[in-house]
Amino acid sequence: GKAEIRTTLSRLYEDLSNSNSPAVNFIHSRVQRMSARWIRAGLRMKQRVSSVGSNQMRVLLYPGALAGTAGQHFEAMVERGGPLGELVQWADLSACLTILGHNLTFSTSLQHLHRLIGAPPGGGSCPIQRPLTFDLIYTDYHGLAHLHGAMGLAFLHYQCRFRILDSFGTEPAFNLDTYARSHGYKTLWGSWALQPLQYMTMFPHTPDNSFLGFVSAEEASEEEQKTDPNRKERIAVVYGKQEYMWQGKSEYVGLISEELETHATVYQPPGHSSNLPSFIKNHGLLSQDDFLQLMRRAKVFVGLGFPYEGPAPIEAISLGCVFLQPRFSTSHSSDSNGFYSGKPTTRQISSQHPYADAFIGKPHVWTVDLTNKTAVREAVRAILRTEVTPFTPREFTCEGMLERVHAYVTHQNFCSKSVPIWPPQSALRLHLGPLGQSCVDVCQRSSHVCEPALFHHLNSPAAFSRLGLGCSSMKQGVNHLFPSYSPWGRHCSLQQEPLLFSCAGSDPKQRRLCPCRAHIFGQVALCLDCI
Ligand code: UDP
Repeated sequence: GKAEIRTTLSRLYEDLSNSNSPAVNFIHSRVQRMSARWIRAGLRMKQRVSSVGSNQMRVLLYPGALAGTAGQHFEAMVERGGPLGELVQWADLSACLTILGHNLTFSTSLQHLHRLIGAPPGGGSCPIQRPLTFDLIYTDYHGLAHLHGAMGLAFLHYQCRFRILDSFGTEPAFNLDTYARSHGYKTLWGSWALQPLQYMTMFPHTPDNSFLGFVSAEEASEEEQKTDPNRKERIAVVYGKQEYMWQGKSEYVGLISEELETHATVYQPPGHSSNLPSFIKNHGLLSQDDFLQLMRRAKVFVGLGFPYEGPAPIEAISLGCVFLQPRFSTSHSSDSNGFYSGKPTTRQISSQHPYADAFIGKPHVWTVDLTNKTAVREAVRAILRTEVTPFTPREFTCEGMLERVHAYVTHQNFCSKSVPIWPPQSALRLHLGPLGQSCVDVCQRSSHVCEPALFHHLNSPAAFSRLGLGCSSMKQGVNHLFPSYSPWGRHCSLQQEPLLFSCAGSDPKQRRLCPCRAHIFGQVALCLDCI
């Protein structure tokens, strides 16, 4: 049948309640706290579009990081300052799909997974595989390995139904084992040879993946925008749940505390004395509710440089805080940095939160050089002089996420053998990049975004002639930079391996052919032609 917008999340609570897992409890309480906003956004969507028009999907949500032995470690860290970003995303995805009217099963147990999708019991050698009863399976890299173990040979047959939550993203060059090995892109994580758009990221990192995102825990409502800005106290909250994140930052934090009362939410193990500077008011790790209450009072949210690219700054900005964060003098990347090392991406991270810097910016986000004391002082003073209203980019609101996930569920089909038909060809803006630039950059320069699903329209000799390029040779090759043009000898190269179509990637000797498209304001994943 057709998916009908729901006006209750009660079905989801059945799967999430009565859990003794701290992670599932975090997800449950987040969904509950945001339920009224989800329901309101669903009702608005229902008014706007008479029928949502997608088929009701049977969906399995399986956060593999919470299952098996990895799961025990993750669970143990939830209440000790470990990463919560993934849980934020799982909570919001499950609420979003429930409101959109799909039929969800949520599981964090490996045994349960085997019962749901495994080969018949005792059937190690049994050739009969049960047909998969899910149209879509959302999981993560850990879960992929579990699915591989549980499904046996059927894994290859059904992998087109998988969606992988992958916070930092997987670029195509890392995705194909043979290619990654021979070209120096081999990592611990990549190499599953899924279609790159099956990977779903926390922020719009690389357009080669689908941007899934999350919902800012508190989006600015219209009433709030009008409330008295004086409700802000002269308070700074430092971003960093564990003490090690503060190392080498005492001078910087000191400068801030000259101007503002400075608070922290650093986890303190029992019996452990704090090494934080004495002028810091530490609350210990707070529940998400209490954390948001604190940010509501605060004027500034202070980034220390780590954690990278998390959800908290977006929430802080939604609550009217200004996010002050460090710019890195040399970019951090998988080549140079322990955290990114082994991650399947070549991205160069120029500040703690590049999305906040590039997509939001002043007056909400100030990115400064921490070693320059004067610059830090001036930034803090300028922030204190400025009245800033709460701001949430559309893509981080409930409506924005409903609209985006609805478009993905309806239009993304990785099981079809034919070329993708979404977004439609009418969205294509063909660009020829300069030497040494990736298609990510080329499209950005013209305020567009690279759209990998449109690559196949420009992988032909006709595309080169349309750009006025005369080719002395036209060869097919396996390279993530193709299709491209080399001015020396006027060689033109076409892509032979569709899995290697890549927005990321550049070479000083190649000019890339780039499939750019426009996007809706505040919703980079979608264009007017695609909804
Ligand atoms: N958070 C919390 N208690 C705290 C500090 C943060 O519940 O004391 C929440 C916060 O609201 C955010 C989530 O933790 O939604 C993830 O925060 P962060 O940006 O630090 O990302 P992470 O590094 O944990 O993935």
